[in-house]
Amino acid sequence: MSTLRFQALKEALNRSSVVITETERRSTLFGENVFNQSTMLQYLTKDAYSSVMDAIDHGTKIDRRIADQIASAMKDWSLSKGVTHYTHWFQPLTGATAEKHDAFFETIGNGLGIEKFGGGQLVQQEPDASSFPHGGIRNTFEARGYTAWDPTSPAFIYGTTLCIPTVFVAYTGEALDYKTPLLRALQAVDTAATAIAKYFDKNVKKVNASLGWEQEYFLIDRALVESRPDLVMTGRTLLGHSSAKGQQLDDHYFGSIPNRALAFMRDLEVECMLLGIPVKTRHNEVAPNQFELAPIYEETNLAVDHNSLLMDIMEKVASRHNLKVLLHEKPFAGVNGSGKHNNWSLSTNTGVNLLGPGKTPMSNLQFLTFFINTIKAINEHEELMRAGIASASNDHRLGANEAPPAIMSVFIGEQLTSVLKELEGVTDGKLSPKEKTDLKLNVVGKIPEILLDNTDRNRTSPFAFTGNKFEFRAVGSKANCANPMTILNTIVAKQLVEFKKEVDVLIDKKSLKKDEAIFNVLREYIKQSKSILFEGNGYGEAWEKEAKKRGLSNNKTTPEALKAKVSKKTLNLFEEMGVMNKIEAEARYEIEIEEYVMRIQIEGRVLGDIARNHVIPTAIKYQNMLISNVSGLKNLYDKDFKKYAKEQMEIIEEISKHIGEINTKVNEMTEERRKANKLDDVEKKALDYCKKVKPLFDQIRYSCDQLELLVDDELWPLTKYRELLFTR
Ligand code: ADP
Ligand code: MG
Repeated sequence: MSTLRFQALKEALNRSSVVITETERRSTLFGENVFNQSTMLQYLTKDAYSSVMDAIDHGTKIDRRIADQIASAMKDWSLSKGVTHYTHWFQPLTGATAEKHDAFFETIGNGLGIEKFGGGQLVQQEPDASSFPHGGIRNTFEARGYTAWDPTSPAFIYGTTLCIPTVFVAYTGEALDYKTPLLRALQAVDTAATAIAKYFDKNVKKVNASLGWEQEYFLIDRALVESRPDLVMTGRTLLGHSSAKGQQLDDHYFGSIPNRALAFMRDLEVECMLLGIPVKTRHNEVAPNQFELAPIYEETNLAVDHNSLLMDIMEKVASRHNLKVLLHEKPFAGVNGSGKHNNWSLSTNTGVNLLGPGKTPMSNLQFLTFFINTIKAINEHEELMRAGIASASNDHRLGANEAPPAIMSVFIGEQLTSVLKELEGVTDGKLSPKEKTDLKLNVVGKIPEILLDNTDRNRTSPFAFTGNKFEFRAVGSKANCANPMTILNTIVAKQLVEFKKEVDVLIDKKSLKKDEAIFNVLREYIKQSKSILFEGNGYGEAWEKEAKKRGLSNNKTTPEALKAKVSKKTLNLFEEMGVMNKIEAEARYEIEIEEYVMRIQIEGRVLGDIARNHVIPTAIKYQNMLISNVSGLKNLYDKDFKKYAKEQMEIIEEISKHIGEINTKVNEMTEERRKANKLDDVEKKALDYCKKVKPLFDQIRYSCDQLELLVDDELWPLTKYRELLFTR
């Protein structure tokens, strides 16, 4: 086995970076393989074009005759680009993307064939869906699901396939994917936010939620990754002693990008350009061989699709460079893990960012309205927000002093804190003319200036305001953003609905002016949301204590965190906002908790295998070498041998101790798994895996890592941390 390690190393060290030549400007390439507005203008009739635009802007249905026209245009465009197949591209609840390719080619009898693609095939398909997770939504006699075209996300060509973004639903109507609830949540926040924005500008017709994600990832030589069964099977290293040098010198972050990584990035960026993914930023991250990529933000549904697509093509592009992309949140112990900051804001069809301060007191009151309502929404639903980012892999990151804690809080900075303090003092009921003027000039009016030099950015906060957007920093690197974005937009929608009710009551019943009513409601919201605001160090122990006092949840593990997804409060929320019915919400919970169990189960099996079948035999081999050395010394020196063999004998004993430890703990772990597997209640099972199986991982790992320090490097079968992290 150790030969595999050395072969892999040799291969990795012999690689050179792939030459990437870019002959065209990125702006020329941008969207070339997307059936976007400009392509549609070229290929569609006027009727068909406006029908698609209507569907995008107002969610209107596209009739069958028009769908036929669109399909035919898509086909012509695709064929002109050498495309042979089409697929409905969707995001089942595995979190990954799914596709099943069909050829345009069809036979028409008499030995003839043509390329064909009709409206029916564009609009709806019926993939054999029984193998996707469904959490009990589909029992056997209604085992069918179908995919339906989502015109708000444009079709694109990847390779020789036309990909049509679709939703995935059961025949009974329940969503079987991530996209459907997201689209509903975006609809809900649009409706609710538009109603509020109309207080300030009657011309607002639509509000879009924007998302700009920042994708972190590790890039490791392919041969090295493939030499590690744990990386291959679980996406992370289950053992491995830390490298003498890690990230302590801070010499990687923002440093010059290594050649092979840069070639990969350029290659990937070109692919992204063709697919209309507006990538903009690339840099080294904190840990060795860790990097980040960020696009320009987009409408949320599109941004989510683009992130899913990106994660998919990253892998494909990497293989051209003999690299592997690790999207796992914590591939290596002891160095930083990866996250995916979700930058979020709301903007109107009139081009106003509702979370960006404006130029006039009135537009700033609008800003404060959305700003404070968002804070209130997080305060009300902090536990659900935590649930939205829960996964077995993200558990390693949250609260590990490198990522936001499992406690939700909102950071707004010193200046906005003082603005809120002033607003808290607003008079109850009608405001005097003097107070109004004062508020407008000195409080609300000052906002744009103070935000300009707002440089305090608290990196330890899970949800931070950064000038004109909120940044949800606790999202995991391999997560599908739809999950947290569905939650965030739903809770904000709900909050805005409540807000409007309260303001309207004050206007109608108490005859307050609109701005007075808004000030009055915001004042109460500020008072009610205090416990979620936190400006201090989110990594500190003091915060844990403080948060507990404030009554904030601190669900450290996935099984504990996920529960909030099916609390009465959450089920009512999703139902009321038309995002998910009870069946859909419960199904998701079931799928996620089951996934948790399976992830830990797989890790346990892999760790057991590596520890017992790779580590122990290697340790014994080395121990035998020591034993023959000792007996040789005994032959040579007779009674005096201990003088020369003392250290060796100590190592022999040390090895035996660790072997014994590993063996016992692996047995214990297997036994705990067996017991957990017998439980019918999946919640209990998940908790057992979390509290009884998983803790043994660390104990097994400890002994394995100690052996790594003792055993001859030549014999060690597993590629070491320094090799994985520092081979470029
Ligand atoms: P960083 O957080 O690393 O300092 P930036 O704040 O510049 O980086 O931006 C990170 C991401 O935020 C980018 O994807 C960017 O497009 C996105 N972003 C910027 N403005 C907005 C906005 N108003 N709404 C949503 N995302 C935004
Ligand atoms: Mg950021």
